[in-house]
Amino acid sequence: LGGSISRALQQMSNATIIDEKVLSDCLNEISRALLQADVQFKMVRDMQSNIKRIVNFDDLAAGHNKRRIIQQAIFNELCKMLDPGKPSFTPKKGKTSVIMFVGLQGSGKTTTCTKYAYYHQKKGWKPALVCADTFRAGAFDQLKQNATKAKIPFYGSYTESDPVKIAAEGVERFKKENCDLIIVDTSGRHKQEAALFEEMRQVSEATKPDLVIFVMDGGIGQAAFDQAQAFKQSVAVGAVIVTKMDGHAKGGGALSAVAATKSPVIFIGTGEHMDEFEVFDVKPFVSRLLGMGDWSGFMDKIHEVVPTDQQLELLQKLSEGTFTLRQYQNILKMGPSVQVLSMLPGFSAESMPKGHEKESQAKIKRYMVMMDSMTNAELDSTNPKLMNESRIRRIARGSGRQVSDVMDMLEEYKRLANILSKRKGFKIPKKGEMSAL
Ligand code: GDP
Ligand code: MG
Repeated sequence: LGGSISRALQQMSNATIIDEKVLSDCLNEISRALLQADVQFKMVRDMQSNIKRIVNFDDLAAGHNKRRIIQQAIFNELCKMLDPGKPSFTPKKGKTSVIMFVGLQGSGKTTTCTKYAYYHQKKGWKPALVCADTFRAGAFDQLKQNATKAKIPFYGSYTESDPVKIAAEGVERFKKENCDLIIVDTSGRHKQEAALFEEMRQVSEATKPDLVIFVMDGGIGQAAFDQAQAFKQSVAVGAVIVTKMDGHAKGGGALSAVAATKSPVIFIGTGEHMDEFEVFDVKPFVSRLLGMGDWSGFMDKIHEVVPTDQQLELLQKLSEGTFTLRQYQNILKMGPSVQVLSMLPGFSAESMPKGHEKESQAKIKRYMVMMDSMTNAELDSTNPKLMNESRIRRIARGSGRQVSDVMDMLEEYKRLANILSKRKGFKIPKKGEMSAL
């Protein structure tokens, strides 16, 4: 995706005359990429015509920064699509709120309920969890386990089969205990079924939630709109949480969910663990959608993972535009690597085996082993010609890999070096400081 958008913009900037056709071709290419990122067809079409209206040809002809003008227009348009125009209900600490979670089975509801509770608990709230999923065997055990781990009070039953009854009882109990955030986890089905929506309607009627949160899998694809709409039609969905954003999913379905529910995305899930949960931030999300990377997230990650005494050097080197294999090695050390690498502007998650996190990890481990077989001179070199055939052979032998593996790694390194060189001269941010797009 990142590739084709950059390519489209590149072609655009190379064209000497920017006419309607050049812009059209460029937009077509970007549209294809957005469709691949699961953005709904209709929304892509709307965006296309909006951009054509917004972009001023005189500006383009005169300006040196054609790419930037188009890119900015597309970026703004996508940000707008993620903004339903009104904030969601925000619970207040110390005042009881009932929050109901809905979504299909496997979307991540139970996991997200706990994350949401834990997030607030850390900020001094008094949350509680109610398991109103009597459909799936083991649902209560799962919630109980999560809740126990996070030391959050929970309510549920192994024997009662009526979700409405349990939900009402649980909410009542925790209201008495003065919990300020009563979270109701509900069941899902594999498919959108009438019985599920009727159940959601009844649970909602019995618990009178202040907020209903629709949970969707970030990789849901084009089905997102219908799914979100179906829930919205049975209960008053007021917010969206997109899960599994740690993998390859770009989360384009979020745009559909926002459109269908007229509600904002409030959090994203970035892993299976309790604390892998982030407040939704529209700009990095759109950057990622466009394959532009999340530069500020990347900077923050450097502060988080690279030892303090090495941070400045790494950042300075990156800013100078000297990206050696040593720096590449340092970046690869930064942790769940697909996650880190996907923050890099222009990094294509496609270069990692899709849907196979483990294989991606293995590939990166392989890179690291090969780097261990390199000399200091090789790691610190800024001369691309240094890596001659005999050196490559030696590295392959030393790491027990094929010559082609070494070539593969060097290729990937060069690609990254090229991307990073475009960022040459960037301002080195302080921790938490957001660098502008
Ligand atoms: P539910 O059926 O909607 O309650 O979904 P669950 O909470 O049981 O989650 C289904 C699966 O998705 C579980 O294996 C979770 O660990 C996993 N999961 C949930 N959220 C995330 C996430 O943000 N990232 C990843 N990688 N996995 C997640
Ligand atoms: Mg569940």
